[in-house]
Amino acid sequence: MPPNPLLGVDKIYWRYEPSGNFTVRSAYESLCQLESTATDNAWNQAWSWKGPQAARIFLWQVLHAKLKTKSELSRRHIPISLGCDRCGAPLEDIIHVLRDCYCIKRVWLRIVPARHHSSFFQSSLQDWIIANLQNKWNIPSPLSWECIFGVAVWRLWYWRNHFIVEGKLADSSTVYVDIMAKANEIHRLNNSYISQQPRRKEIYIGWLPPPWPWCKLNTDGFCRKDKRAGASGIIRDSVGHWITGFCMNIGESSVLMAELWGLYQGLRLTWEAGIKRLLVEVDNLCVTQLVSKQVVVPNEFYALVFPSPIFIGKQIRRRILWQTWLIHTPMDCTYFLARLWVFIQLLFKTCLGLLNLVLFLFSSLA
Ligand SMILES: [Zn+2]
Repeated sequence: MPPNPLLGVDKIYWRYEPSGNFTVRSAYESLCQLESTATDNAWNQAWSWKGPQAARIFLWQVLHAKLKTKSELSRRHIPISLGCDRCGAPLEDIIHVLRDCYCIKRVWLRIVPARHHSSFFQSSLQDWIIANLQNKWNIPSPLSWECIFGVAVWRLWYWRNHFIVEGKLADSSTVYVDIMAKANEIHRLNNSYISQQPRRKEIYIGWLPPPWPWCKLNTDGFCRKDKRAGASGIIRDSVGHWITGFCMNIGESSVLMAELWGLYQGLRLTWEAGIKRLLVEVDNLCVTQLVSKQVVVPNEFYALVFPSPIFIGKQIRRRILWQTWLIHTPMDCTYFLARLWVFIQLLFKTCLGLLNLVLFLFSSLA
């Protein structure tokens, strides 16, 4: 298409996504020149099945033919008999456990209408799973057939294991009632208000310069599992030039305190640099709520060891008088900088340890 000023200004467009936005998945697929196939659709069917995560993982294992049946255990050289303990069939493989076992078939005969029996009981394992997850045979049911089928195979495996462990064979009525109760529960949850909410929301992260003559402060704090905490901050002007920055070790602390110390230190530096118009971005929602008095945070613990968050909050609010805006943003550019200090400490300790070892070896040789 030739350039046309009436169509608006030019913008960056990622050709491998319909939305034009860059995603790692589309970049990877374009590099590998991957194309979605029928097999991919099968995996998608399993992962997009609406129900408990445990059942989704189970369906994925079934499609991979990795269920630990006797046949699979024998294939892995585990000395075990191949026969089905429940019906006496000579081979217990996945399709037998989930469909063809005599004890299981009685349950399916109650669930699947008679006119669909021929197609239902004659397909191979993968075709059988995919056809049912897509309801290709249009099997009528009071609930969604995909839901009943997914729950049924999941619970049939449970009852098989129950028999192996407990040694008690559950009758088909008990198994049928269990499957329908679970399917009802999941179907109700799938259609409830909670499940209608989006599971995941994609947010594109990027640093945007502030308008002239404002500057922007980005701060971040972090705390490792061993409670070692650090904080960092970067101050840049309206064209993105570095003005100043910091990276500090806090010692043993919490994430909230590390974030607050990062914010406090950043504000102190901007005050000393004579910056009077400042946008502040932090990636911790609790900090923004605390500073703007939207939440009450218990301060007994903080007041004993460090200046309380309320104190820091007051300092920050006082500085708002010199035109400071505090904004919550997702993980930003200071994420790695905040972790730099602890990394340097670890590196220093490792070098010190190696030096001690070398000195010890030299002294032993001497
Ligand atoms: Zn059997």
